[in-house]
Amino acid sequence: MIIVPEKEIAGLIGRQESFDAVESVFAAMAGGAAYNFPVIREAIGHADALYGFKSGFDRSSLALGLKSGGYWPGNMAKGLTNHQSTVFLFDADTGKAKAVVGGNLLTALRTAAASAVSIKHLARKDAKVLGMIGAGHQSAFQMRAAAEQRDFEKVLGWNLHPEMLVRLEETANELGLPYESVDLARLGAEADVIISITSSFDPILMEEHVSPGTHIACMGTDTKGKQEVDVALVAKAKLFTDEVAQSATIGECQHAVASGIVSEDNIIEIGAVINGNHPGRTSQSDITLFDGTGVGLQDLAVASAAVDLAIQKGVAIEVDF
Ligand code: NAD
Repeated sequence: MIIVPEKEIAGLIGRQESFDAVESVFAAMAGGAAYNFPVIREAIGHADALYGFKSGFDRSSLALGLKSGGYWPGNMAKGLTNHQSTVFLFDADTGKAKAVVGGNLLTALRTAAASAVSIKHLARKDAKVLGMIGAGHQSAFQMRAAAEQRDFEKVLGWNLHPEMLVRLEETANELGLPYESVDLARLGAEADVIISITSSFDPILMEEHVSPGTHIACMGTDTKGKQEVDVALVAKAKLFTDEVAQSATIGECQHAVASGIVSEDNIIEIGAVINGNHPGRTSQSDITLFDGTGVGLQDLAVASAAVDLAIQKGVAIEVDF
């Protein structure tokens, strides 16, 4: 069995490998070769922790396994990241344990890759302004991955907690892009692509904020009750997601589906666009919305890539198991 510790991940896998792995697994999902198993997420009644696992199997790449972990709110005080995760991979031919891989950085990379895949396939080719809603840990990863998909000329940012906006400014500077903190009306009016990555439980981005032709990647809503976007905006947009079942129950579309304004049949798996079986955006004025709920197969895809790279680069730790 191979161990790839968290500290090795940054030196092994970058945005391009993550993008390729996530785009391939979305395609495999839509083609029926890959599927996610039901997600488990429990409040364990200790340390205020939420613990769970996401698992699945991709018959095309033979990635089989699970990501296990969750949210420990007291970790920060201990000098640890609150979100903790580890990926376990198994040999699809024998069931033997194949690898244990640190999953913290991989989670950020695979989540940023998902919105970048959506921008590649759904945003207008002439998109120039990137709008960022949210300035937490994930936001910098999101911005860096998005910036590789279009020739953006400017980044606009908004966050509920303005003291965090410095992260967006620093990341835009790192990318050589001008940055401005703005209100939501200006962000919606000017941005061609909007990424939302917050822990919000109330809509932030409203229908009246958003201009025709915008692509919105909703990346923060991954749990029942969370919400970043007004239901009326969801109802107006052409809807795409990683997995329809998650979109309708724990993703951004959950509220529109529950209220009956949107039917699950109107939500398209982005893999269908990648595979050429759905046209995606059909007009410059379409508002497209990608509901990135985060699926276990994304984790398995990037972890498998990290294992292959660790073997190639000679940093994989092998143990008899
Ligand atoms: P973080 O704790 O570092 O930052 C949280 C962000 O949400 C900040 O911008 C903060 O200002 C904002 N926020 C907090 N409470 C809010 C509220 N009540 N209303 C509006 N905004 C609020 O978190 P992070 O690591 O950047 O993750 C952001 C979100 O993305 C989390 O909710 C996380 O669960 C989600 N996430 C989703 C996926 C996925 O695959 N879809 C993957 C990883 C993380």
